[in-house]
Amino acid sequence: RKVESIIERHLRHGAREIGESESKEILEAYGFATPSGSIATTADQAANIAEQLGYPVVLKIWSPDIVHKSDVGGVKIGLKSAQEVKDAFDLMMYRIPKKVPDAHILGVLVQEMCASGREVILGMHRDPHFGPLMMFGMGGVMVEVLKDVAFYLAPLTGDEARQMLVNTKTYQLLKGVRGQEGVDIEAIAEGLQRLSQLVTEFPQIQEMDINPYVVGLPGTTPIAVDARISVE
Ligand code: ADP
Ligand code: MG
Repeated sequence: RKVESIIERHLRHGAREIGESESKEILEAYGFATPSGSIATTADQAANIAEQLGYPVVLKIWSPDIVHKSDVGGVKIGLKSAQEVKDAFDLMMYRIPKKVPDAHILGVLVQEMCASGREVILGMHRDPHFGPLMMFGMGGVMVEVLKDVAFYLAPLTGDEARQMLVNTKTYQLLKGVRGQEGVDIEAIAEGLQRLSQLVTEFPQIQEMDINPYVVGLPGTTPIAVDARISVE
């Protein structure tokens, strides 16, 4: 199995963090949709990739040493032309090494921009006593501000996954307030269940999160935009 081999190779090399592209491969193996894209090491290359993907695109700094990319100006969304892509590339490559001089920068990820939706976080932390604790909450920075998260031990049944959602205030927002259209709640519960299956089948995964998991209207496919997986 592919997931097995990615995890085993990291463990052999004593690498705890699985990088973004292999994290995505793992998620795709479990039925998650992820944005397509590839790595550029020059501004021209970035523009070429963008032309292939079609506009708008997103640029993200690519470094094993930078975990929170937007904190260092390493995420630029909504780029609409080759020129915008090249300028954003040059700016990142100029500014980020000044902000984080010790970071080893491998390039910039050029990624397709996904349709807007609500951002939630799906996560797991393996507790030494209780086991794989699944987490759900509002994504992005909101998770730290609102502290509105739900936890539940994996493996999750469909009902348990739904119950996790219902237990948060975020749920009210996701359902849609005051006539606003709600998002696909069932798709979030399904995502939680798939994540639960992944961490149950691979006890080597110590911690992981999908943040953001971008969810749109019912009938649309949610996208795992950013993910972190650490193994031990
Ligand atoms: P980090 O969490 O390391 O700062 P992310 O990849 O999560 O970086 O990007 C930060 C934010 O930028 C996301 O929460 C999302 O709002 C937006 N974003 C990132 N990638 C995309 C994308 N492909 N399409 C749309 N929005 C995106
Ligand atoms: Mg993120």
